Amino acid sequence: MKVAVFGLGYAGTVSAACLARADHDVWGVDVDTEKVKVVEAGSSPVIEPGLDELVHEGVSAGRLHATTDGVAALDGADIAVVCVGTPSTDHGRVDLSQVERAVGEIVEQSRVAKPPPKGLRSIVIRSTVPVGTVDDLVVPILSVDPPTGWRYGVAMCPEFLRESSGIRDFFDPPFTVIGTDDPEVAAAVTELFAFVGQEPRVVRTREAEALKYVCNAFHATKVSFANELARLMRCLGVDARNVMDVFCEDTRLNLSSRYLRPGFAFGGSCLPKDLRALLHIARVNNVDLPLMAGTLQSNELTVGEVVDRTIASGGRDVALLGLSFKAETDDLRESPNVELAETLLGKGFRLRIYDAIVNPARLVGTNRSYIESKLPHLCRLLSDSAAEALKGADVAIVSSTDAAAVEALLDDPPRVVIDINGRLGRDVEDLPGYAGLGW
Ligand code: NAD
Repeated sequence: MKVAVFGLGYAGTVSAACLARADHDVWGVDVDTEKVKVVEAGSSPVIEPGLDELVHEGVSAGRLHATTDGVAALDGADIAVVCVGTPSTDHGRVDLSQVERAVGEIVEQSRVAKPPPKGLRSIVIRSTVPVGTVDDLVVPILSVDPPTGWRYGVAMCPEFLRESSGIRDFFDPPFTVIGTDDPEVAAAVTELFAFVGQEPRVVRTREAEALKYVCNAFHATKVSFANELARLMRCLGVDARNVMDVFCEDTRLNLSSRYLRPGFAFGGSCLPKDLRALLHIARVNNVDLPLMAGTLQSNELTVGEVVDRTIASGGRDVALLGLSFKAETDDLRESPNVELAETLLGKGFRLRIYDAIVNPARLVGTNRSYIESKLPHLCRLLSDSAAEALKGADVAIVSSTDAAAVEALLDDPPRVVIDINGRLGRDVEDLPGYAGLGW
């Protein structure tokens, strides 16, 4: 394919050189004449292991060109990849002026450049951009000047390379993501990246934009998590390197998809208690753990969000389907659902609760004393069936996925259904009053 790559910085030069290695006809474009001269001469304008050699190889083979002339690059190009900078400005605001200008230039230059041979020029945004940028900034620029005889398509394909291992990451990315609603663009970009040998994930444009930020936020959080706990461990005479070595061996819970699905707040008899203990130990030792403290705070916000949504619904009668902190257990200790029930009662809502497993007559020990102190009216609030709990309810707050609860919801749906679990299934999600907690 003929590919024009706009921006010859780190991401753009690695992309251009690797795409040329993959036998594409690649034209790198930059407004910086110095960078263009360096690439034209067969060197890399940025320091990155192996990149000089790869640029040299591409230029010598005639598969990689560099120019300031976008028209030459776009002449007959199937794809234009946008790799310009998206720097941070005041308060973290992303400066999108380079993207705006580059896409504007593509439109201007495409007026004179030869059209794409297959009637489609796919504009692939590879720069990291906030959610909505493609729809709100890129698409309007492309639609100002509809070309005759061919058309533009657009996709967001985030770049996952890391500096210092950029080439390796380019050829072996964690995934190839194509964010587009346009099947022809998806097919063109799939062809562009066929050499990676990976089935691409075609997702919505906004999901692809979000994914890059989610990945980077997670990576940053991992670094701070390790460093924050190491600060405390050192104080306690523990070598955090040894702890993390063992920690990382657990690929079932620690390094896995567990605990990473959006849903309701964490709770139960261990996580809140042990996090509070860690914070206490840190305080005693004068160590700040802002990430851990923020985690507890964030958890409270998750409960608060459901309360706020319930208030905003305008209803007074609420059915809470699911009470224990996890399905198939009757452990109510620090269940965030109990916390939620308590808050709603305190705010004057009329509450009915259904839980397939929790039966007050069977609760014993700490579980019983916990519920007696937290929700002394539990017996009065509990319904024998989901249908009974839902009778007359304006709002259902649902974490229970048991078939009886789902069936009752579908039979007698309240005006508002707040799904705090995310696994209720299509039928419930199609109800008119359905709203997911974080989706
Ligand atoms: P960079 O600042 O090093 O390079 C951007 C290049 O774009 C510059 O050379 C600039 O002259 C050029 N440019 C600006 N406007 C142009 C225009 N209108 N036409 C042609 N060229 C133009 O930036 P970078 O580090 O390569 O990052 C680019 C994007 O990729 C950013 O959004 C970044 O977040 C993302 N990204 C970077 C990396 C990385 O490892 N650096 C990894 C993944 C994603």
